[in-house]
Amino acid sequence: MSSTVTDLDTFQAAEEAGEAGPDAVAPPSADGRRARFIEVRGLVKTFTGDGAPVQAVRGLDLVVPEGTFLGVMGQSGSGKSTFLAMLGGLTHPTSGTIAVDGIDLYALSGERLADFRREYLGFVFQSFNLVPYLTALENVTLPLAVKKMPAAKKRGRALEVLERVGLADRASHLPGKLSGGEQERVAIARALVNEPPLILADEPTGALDTETTTEIMDLFAELHREGNTIVMVTHNAEIQLYFDRTIVLRDGRLDCDLPRCAPNTPL
Ligand code: ADP
Ligand code: MG
Repeated sequence: MSSTVTDLDTFQAAEEAGEAGPDAVAPPSADGRRARFIEVRGLVKTFTGDGAPVQAVRGLDLVVPEGTFLGVMGQSGSGKSTFLAMLGGLTHPTSGTIAVDGIDLYALSGERLADFRREYLGFVFQSFNLVPYLTALENVTLPLAVKKMPAAKKRGRALEVLERVGLADRASHLPGKLSGGEQERVAIARALVNEPPLILADEPTGALDTETTTEIMDLFAELHREGNTIVMVTHNAEIQLYFDRTIVLRDGRLDCDLPRCAPNTPL
């Protein structure tokens, strides 16, 4: 058994015993943060189907310290979503490795990878992906379904997070009765309810107007200030101000790592 699987075992055992969360597995550095929280090595993804193979990601290497708000930019088709999906344990790389908190994701079995996603990740997608016939509160409670926790406690936790995103008074609304910005907040609350160490967001403001985009980005900025590690894909150069580091992809490769990009690098 590899040490990475042991890490996840230890993490889960500690969780079940009601001890500290991910902190139980890898000792943090002096400032309390892991300097190599995300480690990507030689990452390649080639889609093969009926037609010619598509090389979506052609060799990425990246180290991201804990607590970073990382922006992933680049033109449409440059491999941003494919990269994020691999980071989130959703798409197996063709080659290369991704480690999060020392856990080598694709060395895990399918079941273990599902455990990893549940314990470590909060996903926010552009299209919200809310269940239309469940209320805001029920949508936020969903990720807690598999937790051994009394129903009242789950509900309390979900309400707490809805309050956190400013939506406590919309808890009983169906998604169809909420504005785009409110639906986005529900999606963010759902991503946060498990208190994941890593938040991944794929164009979370892509469907929102400018004012709502600012509101949502302010919320992400607050999460960042609280110490969350966030990786956000966007092609909106205006929200780049919120990131403390931006990488730009071009044709599946790292074009540059801001602020070291040339002044006129197209995003
Ligand atoms: P971005 O998010 O930057 O717009 P994507 O990661 O979605 O880019 O796509 C990168 C490339 O991979 C594109 O050429 C896209 O058409 C291709 N691609 C993405 N997903 C698939 C898939 N499931 N099958 C085949 N090709 C894909
Ligand atoms: Mg995309």
